[in-house]
Amino acid sequence: MEKKRTMTAGNPRGMRCDCGGRFEDRLSDFDGLKSPAMVCVKCGEVTLTKVQARRLMRIKELSMACRAKRKVVRIGNSIGITLPEELAKIGQHVHMQPVDEKTIAMTFD
Ligand SMILES: [Zn+2]
Repeated sequence: MEKKRTMTAGNPRGMRCDCGGRFEDRLSDFDGLKSPAMVCVKCGEVTLTKVQARRLMRIKELSMACRAKRKVVRIGNSIGITLPEELAKIGQHVHMQPVDEKTIAMTFD
């Protein structure tokens, strides 16, 4: 796992790493979960702003909620799957996009 700490100061863009390098906002990998983080361009040190830390926590919560295997069920004349409550609200719109023949990405409004 990557080393990370949470920055509590105001504007992270002006902050420098202990090595003297500057931090850049980059999409980073946290145990397979993609989330923005501040990455030192010189040594690769990864740190999070408060907003980024909250976002990563939310993604981790969603990841935990989606772990259970689900069954396709009949709903009237349609078929569906149940979703964890953490993932969506009733009436919320969702867009589906095939990633490959067995994977569909869902994007919630
Ligand atoms: Zn550095």
